[in-house]
Amino acid sequence: MSEIRTVADLAAAGDAGRPAIRAPEGRAPLTYGGLRALIERTVAALNRVGVGRDDRVAIVLPNGPEMAAAFVSIASGATTAPLNPAYKAEEFEFYLSDLKAKALVAQRGVETPARAVAEKLGVPVLELVPDAEGGAGAFSLEGGAEGAAARPGMAETDDVALVLHTSGTTARPKIVPLTHGNVTASAQSIARTLELSPNDACLNVMPLFHIHGLIAATLASLAGGGAVVCTPGFNALRFFGWLDMEKPTWYTAVPTMHQAILARAERNRAIIERTPLRFLRSSSASLPAQVMRDLETAFNAPVIESYGMTEASHQMASNPLPPRPRKPGIVGVAAGPEIAIMDEEGNVLPQGAIGEVVIRGPGVTKGYEANPEANAKAFINGWFRTGDQGMLDEEGYLQLTGRLKELIKRGGEQVSPLEVDGVLSEHPAVAQALTFSIPHAMLGEEVGAAVVLREGMDCTERELRDFAAKHLADFKVPRKVVFLPEIPKGATGKLQRIGLAEKLGISA
Ligand code: ATP
Ligand code: MG
Repeated sequence: MSEIRTVADLAAAGDAGRPAIRAPEGRAPLTYGGLRALIERTVAALNRVGVGRDDRVAIVLPNGPEMAAAFVSIASGATTAPLNPAYKAEEFEFYLSDLKAKALVAQRGVETPARAVAEKLGVPVLELVPDAEGGAGAFSLEGGAEGAAARPGMAETDDVALVLHTSGTTARPKIVPLTHGNVTASAQSIARTLELSPNDACLNVMPLFHIHGLIAATLASLAGGGAVVCTPGFNALRFFGWLDMEKPTWYTAVPTMHQAILARAERNRAIIERTPLRFLRSSSASLPAQVMRDLETAFNAPVIESYGMTEASHQMASNPLPPRPRKPGIVGVAAGPEIAIMDEEGNVLPQGAIGEVVIRGPGVTKGYEANPEANAKAFINGWFRTGDQGMLDEEGYLQLTGRLKELIKRGGEQVSPLEVDGVLSEHPAVAQALTFSIPHAMLGEEVGAAVVLREGMDCTERELRDFAAKHLADFKVPRKVVFLPEIPKGATGKLQRIGLAEKLGISA
């Protein structure tokens, strides 16, 4: 049981001068002592304008140190609701009302349609003014009318620290409330898995409106007593410059980012050779085994694949650091909640059986907000159903075989698109593959695949289908393969299979 504030305090014990939040490009860091003072100031500022514990503060900020600092300090006195700054007015209107926001925090000098929407809805706007002297991420809040908060003071373990929307990969995003107890439990297990210490610095390239960047990069770094270097967001061209200047000891990203990094690794060999990277971490979507192997060769460092989801405050399983073995294409051992495999009736299945992955533990949300229908489906006998399908091997490693909602039902057969992706990615000409469902009049669904070829490589649809047919039963072989320069991604960098056929205008 603990709060975000106490995690940061514990990490600072004995050395308040250590950097907590850093920014690239030579800005002085925000130290643990500075962060503690910022938390006190921010909670007092919120309380002065009538915002207290359980009140929701929508945060619309550019990715960067202010966003990380705003999350940690605002969550210490209210509930944070980080929103994607790329949303348009209509989306802000939906989210601000859906969340019942008590205030909006936006950055002075940074335009966002969220301001006009907040004014229209009567939500006060608090301007975040960066404090140039105070270190990376330090700020003050201005604006709002004086008023008394119903519940002033510091948040406690069972208060909701964060409400997030799921990525919307399989359905309309759902609101997930996560308490201080939830998020700190997850951050601490990530810090343990990765053996994070005050000597570590994480380069954050993930968006800070998504659980991965907030908990794995930011909060886990604080739990380990190290620093997080907050970039403006992923950029394959600037990435190696950041590695070289900031000397992070690790970074965490989604597979599409790792693939973009890999594509530029060769020409940045000199930088790679002088980085102190201890490991690279991948999460939030499946990392093709070949990409993992190529990354390990390019960086000469272990690639740690982990399995996370919003509802679990991120990490559920992870491959371990050496000398314990990591397994390509497998998401690792339980690392946070307990994990079991269940059948549809809610019976726990034995090792080796394929079923739905279910979890329980201190990081798991108590339930979706205002969504009794989703909650009735999500919880069973005290377990939370992830919607993912998988099996545990004899060493307790979890292999995901697909997402239940993404399984392609072709006639009487079920095809796991993940399995087909895996086979296609082994073809030497393929850089990336995403298998998807094509609506079909007779079969219900048919198998299609979108493929990005490696630079300078060529391959025909026929060749790829023949290759797939060597490794897969006939009914799993994609009937259609389309070649694309790039596969469309969702806001958090994840590939979206559902609806892809419609998006690409492909029919059977
Ligand atoms: P929605 O629930 O709105 O459809 P989403 O599930 O993509 O969106 P997130 O909470 O960001 O939203 O993602 C969690 C999901 O991501 C997991 O349930 C799982 O399907 C997938 N995932 C996470 N890590 C991995 C991994 N290492 N390998 C394969 N899949 C992963
Ligand atoms: Mg989900």
